[in-house]
Amino acid sequence: MKTTNEKIPDPKELEKELGEFLTKKFGGNVKLATPIVIPQQDALEKNDPPPKSTKPIQFDLKPEELIDYLNQYIIKQDDAKAILATKICTHFNRVRHYQSNPEVLNQMVGLIKNNVLLIGPTGVGKTYLVRLIAQKIGVPFVKGDATKFSETGYVGGDVEDLVRDLVREADGDIERAQYGIVYIDEIDKIASSQNSYGADVSRTGVQRGLLKPLEETDVDLKVPHDPVTMIQEIERYRRTGKREKSSINTRNILFIVSGAFTQLTEIIEKRLSSTQIGFGAKVKHFQEPTALLKHLKSEDLIKFGFESEFVGRLPVRAVLERLTEEDLYGILKNPNNPVILGKKIDFSVYGIQVKFVDDALVLLAKRAYDENTGARGLVSAVENAMISFEKALPSSPVGLFPVTKEVIEAPQKTLAEMLRPTQSENLQMAFKKVAREERQHIIEYINANHGKLLEKNGLPLTKERVALVATQYVSDVIDIERAVNRIKYFYNQTKTIEFHFLKNFGINLALEDDAIDHMIEKMVTEQETADSYYKKLTADFEYGLKLVREKTGRNRFFISKEALKAPETFIARLLKQDTGSPNQLR
Ligand code: ADP
Repeated sequence: MKTTNEKIPDPKELEKELGEFLTKKFGGNVKLATPIVIPQQDALEKNDPPPKSTKPIQFDLKPEELIDYLNQYIIKQDDAKAILATKICTHFNRVRHYQSNPEVLNQMVGLIKNNVLLIGPTGVGKTYLVRLIAQKIGVPFVKGDATKFSETGYVGGDVEDLVRDLVREADGDIERAQYGIVYIDEIDKIASSQNSYGADVSRTGVQRGLLKPLEETDVDLKVPHDPVTMIQEIERYRRTGKREKSSINTRNILFIVSGAFTQLTEIIEKRLSSTQIGFGAKVKHFQEPTALLKHLKSEDLIKFGFESEFVGRLPVRAVLERLTEEDLYGILKNPNNPVILGKKIDFSVYGIQVKFVDDALVLLAKRAYDENTGARGLVSAVENAMISFEKALPSSPVGLFPVTKEVIEAPQKTLAEMLRPTQSENLQMAFKKVAREERQHIIEYINANHGKLLEKNGLPLTKERVALVATQYVSDVIDIERAVNRIKYFYNQTKTIEFHFLKNFGINLALEDDAIDHMIEKMVTEQETADSYYKKLTADFEYGLKLVREKTGRNRFFISKEALKAPETFIARLLKQDTGSPNQLR
């Protein structure tokens, strides 16, 4: 089922109108609880979190709010989530604080930025974490690879290129770019090693080249020695007579570097066994690299091959753990997982609905685990399993595709069976069963994870609303947050109906919760719009309520779901009832 395509009003206008309406109605005692959120388009990138945000930077997030947000997407990695969320929040709140109190900043010399070092193998969520945070805060994000850096910056690329890329990511807005996040992967590859002298010199050089940008420096926006940018600059000067701001300062840019650091555990282990008498025996028990890495000290990083100044500029460190087969299953099972959502989108563009049976997810997780590339293996496992179906089903009449264990185990045989016309009813039944299970899982998921979040979002969390979010989720290809936002949007739309009743007829209409939920349900499942509801309510109630007002002087009416369904009975009851106390009018 598709969602509505009606023209969405400007949110600011809607918010203003509603604000005025509430003041008029309740005399300023009641305010709109949340800003109106317009549902975003369904375009989800295939293997990554929702697309680049253009919303203003939110500097007022608290660490725990950010952790709550990350928990919606990231499986495990609790330590890394906590450290990253806390330090990134502090970084941006600090920036905000100094913006309003610049004199404090001037008095503080040698403030150290919260640049972060992430340690962990491939595909465990390092990039995903940072990307999600950047998107949530609304700052531009770029990622580069330290192995591409060279000492001079002329060959390959250097960190300055990344800083310039931030401006592009910020759509040319230098101000916003100056609050961006630069992520540099494979940082362990620029550590010098004791054995290879030649390469060492340049690696140390690259580290030195990073020192200033990591702290504070101005990066020229024009690429040095690039004739094209130079000509552009001259052209612009001729046209405008003005020099553009041509550099970007890195003081508030947060740098996050990461790597697998495979030999680091040995160094830590050695230090622990040699420095602590009687501790050696205990060290042997640290089989798990993550457990050893918890003991990481700056001296270990120096031993690993980093200059001490470089280590000093990375004061925040977080270790990400290797993911187990079960974790991979958990990732697939997460309703916000971009791999599964992406695959659903791939099929939905051909008008085919896909749902995954649990057994199939278990198998896919196993295959991904065997690839030994962490969660990255999930993409290829899913792709390999689905490719023959993605090729054949679009030209077949099959519109419902339940991905069962057999689809993964014996694709060709299952596909041939699916294509048989006699199978159509079986497929439908199988699909309905998965859809029911999925809906139940979503309800459980929201109850377990999102109670706090939903209430924080301003949408009162009733059982009915959780069910509505689940219905929205299963009938569309979106993640949970968007499903919530969409329900919230519909909720706000019902408020515009009350508003228009007051504005156009002077009638003070109060929709009760069950009426609101009923309307939202119709908006989700039957593409009803606020506009069509407004027309329906006008036809059903305008005349009758005006009559009641005339006869009784009463002008505030509570509309329940029952009243919605039987307006005439409702009005007749009002008229009859109102010989006595108007307060009892319902
Ligand atoms: P790396 O640790 O190498 O930077 P990524 O963060 O790029 O790995 O992970 C690749 C993809 O795998 C992500 O886009 C995401 O879909 C998935 N993924 C990785 N780790 C996790 C995790 N802990 N929880 C949920 N998804 C994950």
